[in-house]
Order: sequence, then structure tokens, then C-alpha cells
Amino acid sequence: CIGESGVGKSNLISRFAKDEFRLDSKPSIGVRDKLIKAQIWDTAGQERFRAITSSYYRGALGAMLVYDITKRATFVNVGKWLHELREFGGEDMVVVLVRNKSDLDQSRQVEREKGKGFAETEGLCFMETSALQNLNIHDIISQKSLETKMNGA
Ligand code: GDP
Repeated sequence: CIGESGVGKSNLISRFAKDEFRLDSKPSIGVRDKLIKAQIWDTAGQERFRAITSSYYRGALGAMLVYDITKRATFVNVGKWLHELREFGGEDMVVVLVRNKSDLDQSRQVEREKGKGFAETEGLCFMETSALQNLNIHDIISQKSLETKMNGA
């Protein structure tokens, strides 16, 4: 699970893991992993230090690349994260572009079409979620290409 700090990665993972949502969550310290059907890695604040190493991506079947629809800067940097995923991740890694905080539609700074267009151009799966409202979270993993890979793993 990668993306800029504050986009909602920890909360998305909490939703997967135990269906809870933390308000005012603090940046997480250290690397955490949660076992669901797969293991999910959170960048756990390392995005601030640009210290994510190739080992983080090694062996990952898929990645959730998250941005916050209410913060344009988090979308602008999606290209940077994708570049890193492609550099260090396996060739056939499934990347799901997760557009989080859909409950804040009135503060939207990134048009739906923009996110969709980017995902289509780059060949990514995409999903609009709200960790707050627990919307579409489980659909991320049930993206066909990712599910197929997990079943085969
Ligand atoms: P991370 O740094 O990417 O792990 O982001 P966090 O999961 O810590 O979330 C950052 C902030 O955004 C917290 O205050 C969360 O409560 C809030 N947040 C996360 N997801 C959502 C969402 O879907 N909707 C809204 N309104 N707030 C969210």
C-alpha cells in the first residue's frame, strides 16, 4: 500500500484487517503487516523519508497506489510512486489505483475523469473508496486480475 502521507493508507488497511476506522490517526511508526488472505504492507510513514527500499516491493503480487481526491498534490505524485513500483516490483505486479476519501466529494480537487484517464493510460485497475464510510474497500482485492493471482499464489 503506497502513496503520499495522509492519503488514508493506514485506515484502508485497518478496514481490511479489522473493519475499523481511526479518526485523527497518527503517522504510523515502523513497518506493520496484516494477514488477511494475503499480507498487506503499509509504508508506515517511510514515504516521508523516501527510504522505501526494493525489498518492500519484492515478491508483492499487487500494490494499492493511493491518492486523496481532495488533495491535488497527492495525485500529482502518483506518477512518481508508479515509477518506483515499476522499477522495483515484479513485471506482472497488479497495481490498483485507489482514489480515497470519496465521502469528501464536495472538496474534490481531482476530477473523476482525470484519475480514470491516468489509470487507463497506465493500464491500472482503479477504485474510488472511502475508508471513513467503508465504501468499496473490499472491492480493491476482488479486482479480477489481483484475485486470480492471489488464488494462484
Ligand atoms: P496515511 O498517512 O496514508 O496512512 O493516512 P491515514 O490512514 O493515517 O489517514 C490520514 C487522515 O485522513 C486521518 O485523519 C484519517 O482519519 C483521514 N482519512 C483516511 N481515510 C479517509 C476517508 O476515506 N475519508 C475521510 N474523510 N478521511 C479519511
